[in-house]
Amino acid sequence: MPNQEELSARIVQRCCAAIEANRALLTKLDQAVGDGDHGINMARGFRALGAAFDDYRHDPFPRLTYALGMALVMQVGGASGPLFGSMLMAFGRQADRLPRDAGQAAAMLRAGVAAVQQRGKSTVGAKTMLDVLVPVCDSLEQPDVTLADVRAAAARALEETRPMLASKGRSAFLGERSRGHLDPGANSVYLLVLATCDALEEES
Ligand code: ADP
Ligand code: MG
Repeated sequence: MPNQEELSARIVQRCCAAIEANRALLTKLDQAVGDGDHGINMARGFRALGAAFDDYRHDPFPRLTYALGMALVMQVGGASGPLFGSMLMAFGRQADRLPRDAGQAAAMLRAGVAAVQQRGKSTVGAKTMLDVLVPVCDSLEQPDVTLADVRAAAARALEETRPMLASKGRSAFLGERSRGHLDPGANSVYLLVLATCDALEEES
């Protein structure tokens, strides 16, 4: 088993690489239902997150996750920056380290979900990042869940955003025309979940 810091570094590295590699895809999705900046926003934010990790990697977990969350709040911008940032801060606030198991990961993610819901005044079914985040939490709470199960839950949930009617964020302005497209923020969550699963698999 790698130590906490090595595992965190691996997760951060993979998440940053996944966002960078999918920058054009995320932008294209946001062109369909928003203003076309999601890929650029996320790539800028995750570069800042990578730099913040280098500065805070030796710090206690809540301080590290606060610094990473702040990097997203300040550098992603748009509606999604403060939401992703608050999620990460809430994820690490009560914890002293990365989750030890799936149940603990679910509990920490639930705290993150609550922060997103509170800040975004949204809930599941509005065609947002929550529509992947919440099903991923649900899957983590299943007995004997595997990384493959979590990946599958994320993929299924992302696809389920396609027919949804957007009722939050910029895409809500499109009304019925928001149907038929994946939600960009949900796609980002999907990519981050896959990247994290890859990092965990590599190290276990
Ligand atoms: P903006 O909409 O300001 O251009 P981005 O393009 O970076 O910001 O992010 C758009 C994404 O943010 C959406 O695809 C959606 O997943 C997420 N989002 C927007 N508003 C909300 C909200 N109120 N609650 C949860 N997620 C939201
Ligand atoms: Mg946008």
